[in-house]
Amino acid sequence: MSGLCKICPIECNADRNSGVGYCGQSNKIKIAKYYLHTFEEPPISGKNGSGTVFFCGCSLKCVFCQNYQLSRSQTGKEISPSQLAEIFKELENMGAHNVNLVTPAHFAPQIVEALKIYRPKIPIVYNTHSYEKVETLKIIDPYVDIYLPDLKFFSSELSKRYTGKADYFDVASKAISFMLNSKKTVFGSDGMLKQGVVVRHMIMPLGVKDSKALLNWFAQNKVNGAYLSLMGQYTPFGENENFPELKRPITKREYQRVYEHLLSLKITDYFAQELGSASESFIPKWDF
Ligand code: SF4
Repeated sequence: MSGLCKICPIECNADRNSGVGYCGQSNKIKIAKYYLHTFEEPPISGKNGSGTVFFCGCSLKCVFCQNYQLSRSQTGKEISPSQLAEIFKELENMGAHNVNLVTPAHFAPQIVEALKIYRPKIPIVYNTHSYEKVETLKIIDPYVDIYLPDLKFFSSELSKRYTGKADYFDVASKAISFMLNSKKTVFGSDGMLKQGVVVRHMIMPLGVKDSKALLNWFAQNKVNGAYLSLMGQYTPFGENENFPELKRPITKREYQRVYEHLLSLKITDYFAQELGSASESFIPKWDF
């Protein structure tokens, strides 16, 4: 990759051949871990697990990030596209149901290079915070089978407060609309998702109003049999000293109000994570 980087909506114009951008990354792929992950939605993790690759760096930088060490580049190992292709092969040989790329946007061109070297026979999952440019998604879309986008904030005040980006919903809703229109839901005879979109929303403390607005958007824009995944596992983590409301998990009442709203919208294609699953034990230990 040459020139100044405009891959994500930050468009920080970094020369990633000689340094790093706002996302904290140079042009060299950097990963923190790859393994069979068993805590994704059931038709993604299945019995064997999802072949998850965690990429370092992030252009969203939520203050409550659960993968803080990796999103802030405090950990990781540099690898080449051919080494990444070998990892895809290894995960496939381990019995992974899919290859799950976590926070991949700032490495999209390098991941495409790896997928040109080796394209697994199992689905490729693109797992993102959704603060993405549609132009960048178009580069990788031909190689993606399943999108797993977060839909985090509706209110610009909230997204500004927690990520510094007031335009999160504007950017993310355009990115997710592209994904929704690109992939029709297809399940295999084994019950595993082979193609489609699962939009994930994690309920935040004091976030019921925002969650309801996001569910309304999903109900109005859902096409191609897309699923919603409602997550209740918010765990206090990261730089939250200045955010007193983030120092507790969500309450049963908060979860219930959002869940009832989902039912009232007649969204039937959904996964709902149990509230009791909020735990730091779900946060992986980084290998590199
Ligand atoms: S991907 Fe990184 S370097 Fe490129 S524009 Fe975004 S923040 Fe800047």
